[in-house]
Amino acid sequence: EPRYGFAVDEAIEEALYVLRQDDLLRDVELQYLRRDAGLKVFGNTGQIREIFLNLFVNAAQAMAGRGTLRIETREAGPMVEVLVGDTGPGVPAEAVGRIFEPFFTTKSSMHGTGLGLAISTEIAHEHGGSLSLRHTGSEGATFCVALPRERA
Ligand code: ADP
Ligand code: MG
Repeated sequence: EPRYGFAVDEAIEEALYVLRQDDLLRDVELQYLRRDAGLKVFGNTGQIREIFLNLFVNAAQAMAGRGTLRIETREAGPMVEVLVGDTGPGVPAEAVGRIFEPFFTTKSSMHGTGLGLAISTEIAHEHGGSLSLRHTGSEGATFCVALPRERA
């Protein structure tokens, strides 16, 4: 599959567009902070978009369609970091150690297969990056995607 440098904020906008089409953001306030302009990553744009889609859908589901979705993009040394935070109930304490396992889900089969975070982690690794749970608590969960920065 083709890999090239592309603007990370464009991939994020494309994923947000998909969520809006599915009406998942109707009552969600979006806070989108671009700390550094023109950040580019190197890779497969469709796969990277898939990571953001998974994280945004999880956030929207966690907030039951109502709350604040916080997205932050920034340069972190050789990497681009994307923080995705929500104001949902956070990851259940007993689930924290398992959420990246394939097929682990706390949702009914109608709403989740438990593959989103596992696949997203694999895509991030294939790109020389990572996906992690940065913070979770009763005020919400924040995930961090790190991807190698394309210097162009
Ligand atoms: P699925 O969404 O199909 O359940 P995922 O791999 O995307 O599978 O997520 C696995 C589990 O991680 C979810 O079932 C949920 O328990 C937890 N999780 C993921 N994102 C969040 C979030 N933003 N807030 C709270 N829990 C989350
Ligand atoms: Mg999911």
